[in-house]
Amino acid sequence: MESKRLARERKTVEAMIRIYCRGQHGTRAGLCAECGELLAYAHERLERCRFGADKPTCANCPVHCYRPAMRERIRAVMRYAGPRMSYRHPVLTLYHFLDSRRKPPQTGNDE
Ligand code: SF4
Ligand SMILES: [Zn+2]
Repeated sequence: MESKRLARERKTVEAMIRIYCRGQHGTRAGLCAECGELLAYAHERLERCRFGADKPTCANCPVHCYRPAMRERIRAVMRYAGPRMSYRHPVLTLYHFLDSRRKPPQTGNDE
């Protein structure tokens, strides 16, 4: 079963990609193909996240499991949507801020 934490992460990344797609790609409903692909990728990474319910926010993650091209794309989304999130999604932003203060668990030397 998906934890509340992961459900929240999924919603947050989706909200940010929507803000970005609307502002940068002029999309009025849904997402453009490129952003749709990025969202699917982000959700897939979350599902496979090695930290599970204890995960740090992806921005604070010591592992950064995104492949380089996707990492660049999600960074651009965060830069653009981050400052715009707090008035669009205040509650989600607050939780995300609180989550971002969590320390990532130790991962050992497997990477
Ligand atoms: S970047 Fe880190 S926190 Fe985010 S999904 Fe990948 S491993 Fe998990
Ligand atoms: Zn887009």
